[in-house]
Amino acid sequence: MSKRYRERSLLEFQNEFSTEEACARHLQEIRWPDGFICPRCGHVEAWFIRTRNILDCKSCRAKTSLTAGTIFHKTRTPLLKWYWLIYHMAMDKVGVSISEMQRVLEIRDYKTAWLMAHKVRKAMADRDAGYSLAGLVEMDDSFFGPKGRTRGRGSERKSTVLCAVSLYRNRHGEEKPGFAHMKVVDNASASVIQGFLERLGYGLDTKECKDLLKAIRTDGWRSYGKAIKGANLSHYKVVLRDPKSAGKLLPWVHRVISNAKAVIRGSHRGVSEKHLQSYLSEICYRFNRRFWERELFDRLIKACVADETITYSQLVKNENSIMN
Ligand SMILES: [Zn+2]
Repeated sequence: MSKRYRERSLLEFQNEFSTEEACARHLQEIRWPDGFICPRCGHVEAWFIRTRNILDCKSCRAKTSLTAGTIFHKTRTPLLKWYWLIYHMAMDKVGVSISEMQRVLEIRDYKTAWLMAHKVRKAMADRDAGYSLAGLVEMDDSFFGPKGRTRGRGSERKSTVLCAVSLYRNRHGEEKPGFAHMKVVDNASASVIQGFLERLGYGLDTKECKDLLKAIRTDGWRSYGKAIKGANLSHYKVVLRDPKSAGKLLPWVHRVISNAKAVIRGSHRGVSEKHLQSYLSEICYRFNRRFWERELFDRLIKACVADETITYSQLVKNENSIMN
């Protein structure tokens, strides 16, 4: 698959993907950038069976599915509707509403549209799973869930979320956010934070030089200190005399958290704890690519093509498969 991404404006997208055939042709191009080769005999010519999205080798007659190994596998929804959904999910900064997508794209029913969106979110999460955070990382934990419930007793319905944002200095010496990562966790204990740091790319056990993470900045909550004990990481603690000043002292991580809360409350009208991680992954995916606006569709469609699909029953029964 080509590593270079194509830029498209809305008009260009609209012109390029106006028919089912155009989408199928495009899908074929991303799967076989150097042209189709029959996996059985190596022949390069094939008929395209439009009704089934199948390539039929002109030499050995082996049938190759255009959608196998992608999130579109076995879909009964036209590729055109998938492409438009992916376009919206890539571009809409506040996240799309599923019922709205179902209506405007004329998708069969809500459940179908919901499943499609989750498949796209899984591709986003899997793409970001390979990202490491480097340099100085701002970290904090927050609670997501119904309003009016607080920490401690009665917090059963609130979910703890760990959030990290890597920072860099631009050429004017100003601190800027790089990449963000958020994870739903059971609690903010030292061992859980350790696991989170490992996910960010820091090998606390191995202490290998490959580690890009150099320092963390937190509110000084004791679990952070414990989590990095003995590790080759600097720890900057900002002192919170007033909890309301957290936004000033840990500005980036707070911005990401409050943006995520606004998106979840707004576009998605709140989400169940079970699916919170996949929405957070979507928000981070988009945040991490905010500088590549015109490439967003190309990046996401390629992530979707490279990603194995997930079924409805896997999604509702085995949450771990999309949470990791
Ligand atoms: Zn063949």
